[in-house]
Amino acid sequence: MTDTAENQRNQRHAARMARKKAIIDASIARADQKKGLLLVLTGNGKGKSSSAFGMVGRSLGHGMKVGVCQFLKSRTDTGEEAFFSRDPNVAWHVLGDGFTWETQNREQDIATSLRGWAVAQHMLADASYDLVVLDELTYLLNYGYLDADQVLDTLAARPPMQHVVVTGRAASEALRDLADTVSEIADVKHAYREGITAQPGIDL
Ligand code: ATP
Ligand code: MG
Repeated sequence: MTDTAENQRNQRHAARMARKKAIIDASIARADQKKGLLLVLTGNGKGKSSSAFGMVGRSLGHGMKVGVCQFLKSRTDTGEEAFFSRDPNVAWHVLGDGFTWETQNREQDIATSLRGWAVAQHMLADASYDLVVLDELTYLLNYGYLDADQVLDTLAARPPMQHVVVTGRAASEALRDLADTVSEIADVKHAYREGITAQPGIDL
């Protein structure tokens, strides 16, 4: 990376952190106030998406409005979608064509990612959504399918009371920095490696 590019990146980072600091400082000044959180669930272990869907359930229990964007994945037969999408307070979008090694077509993956991101952007600009789940978003950033700076700026500029959960492996440092809560789920063991297939209720 050239010095200029590195400088611009540092400046964008500083501006983003200044916005984050302003939000945090304002919330400390009113310590009884609540704020919308950005949560990042990452790591190689099982439990990232299912934790996000746990928060969907909690939110719905409180009568909150929830948006879910499932990037990368194309299956619409999951238990979570069947259960949650019948709730009138849920907007559920499956926005993938499958995994990148299935499509093997980078241009198509980028087009699909941009279409999906447009759906997410609408939610991130709509304060009526109390919780937005961006499931498997990290892959789109890590493959460079979406502009990471633009995505982070959009997350930082969302409605102040809106919660966002981002899931996916290998969350970047910049995303971790922006987040309020980051959990890294370790892969201690997984039944798949013993030849057990994905099973309803546990994996889908
Ligand atoms: P879940 O949706 O079960 O919470 P996840 O979001 O943490 O899983 P993903 O990488 O999105 O993990 O993968 C989803 C699918 O892959 C699930 O069927 C899950 O059981 C399986 N899986 C997750 N982690 C592993 C792993 N370390 N080894 C093998 N399979 C895994
Ligand atoms: Mg997942």
